[in-house]
Amino acid sequence: MGIAEELADLPLVDQHCHPVVLGSLVRADFELLLTEASVPGPTGTSELDSHVGLAVRRWCGPELGLDRHAQPDDYLARRAELGPREAARRLLTSCGTSDLLVDTGLEHSGLCDLTTMAELSGARVHEVTRVETVVEELAASGVGAAALGDAVADALADRAARSVGFKTIAAYRVGLELPAAPPATSDVRTAADRWLADCERTGRHRLDDPTLVAYAVHTCLRLGLPVQVHTGYGDPDVTLHRADPSLLTAFLHALPPAAPPVVLLHCYPYHRQAAYLANVFPNVVLDVSLAVNHVGPRAAAVLAETLELAPFGSLLYASDGFGLPELHHLGAVLFRRGLSRVLEEWLADDALTAVDAARFARMISADNARRIYRLDALT
Ligand SMILES: [Zn+2]
Repeated sequence: MGIAEELADLPLVDQHCHPVVLGSLVRADFELLLTEASVPGPTGTSELDSHVGLAVRRWCGPELGLDRHAQPDDYLARRAELGPREAARRLLTSCGTSDLLVDTGLEHSGLCDLTTMAELSGARVHEVTRVETVVEELAASGVGAAALGDAVADALADRAARSVGFKTIAAYRVGLELPAAPPATSDVRTAADRWLADCERTGRHRLDDPTLVAYAVHTCLRLGLPVQVHTGYGDPDVTLHRADPSLLTAFLHALPPAAPPVVLLHCYPYHRQAAYLANVFPNVVLDVSLAVNHVGPRAAAVLAETLELAPFGSLLYASDGFGLPELHHLGAVLFRRGLSRVLEEWLADDALTAVDAARFARMISADNARRIYRLDALT
């Protein structure tokens, strides 16, 4: 059996994704969920005229009973005919994913709950708690500045008991230059005073205080679960250069050997920087989710560039599917194809044996994530 066939049959652990939307979607809604943009492109253009649009037509069409490369309107008509729930069921079950690690902290109307994700996919579903959302919910519930630090620690400990990991969007809010040491209690109190006063003035609870973000992330590390960190590109709320994972260097340097894994998500276009960090810091692991869906035939190149320096025990699979089950499906299909191309090239170069290639494929597809999130210890 060749490596491509071997990879096609391997169950995947999708270590970072989101729920799907089950309401019916008009074309404009569908197109907007397909892209990281937050507003539609210029009149006369379509988000489907992109690598991800081509991939939907090529790979998702047949799952809905259409020919490959069906036209966008035919695809959307068939999707509507089946209904969003049946379309999601087909696209999610055919991913061949054994476990989904779902970030529940991103609000969007119509996202389904975790039980529904499990029913639709046939996979085990595990929750990943978004750190900033926990702090924002406490502030919105009326916790005062004097109590906020302890309340955050208690709430995160509570969430740790029912989560497999934490996720931070520090990159979006304050940039990735997180301090190496946790902030002092008195600094947390001063920051809480300032931030809660801002919240009251603006009527919004958006955690963008560097001291409070650092405090929450360091608190998560003490709780022992892996901490996922958004890095690299994303929606326009991110300032790209502040999401370069190499900005985490001082923070990573200071991690004690017993610290839990720090999981760099997405990474593109800084996947080589992230791979370097995984090479030199034993606690660092990474994925190239999101990018694999959007770079089309270059997915294999992004994986190959990541594997230039990333130890094979540090790379994880994830789709970063959000809203559209098409994105979960494409994550799986394009990852399997991309990784098999990389391994085939190495085999052709006699860089490794077929036995090595199969073992690395299993590690990257699932076994590394099983080890890091201790999935086998869960019932
Ligand atoms: Zn995500």
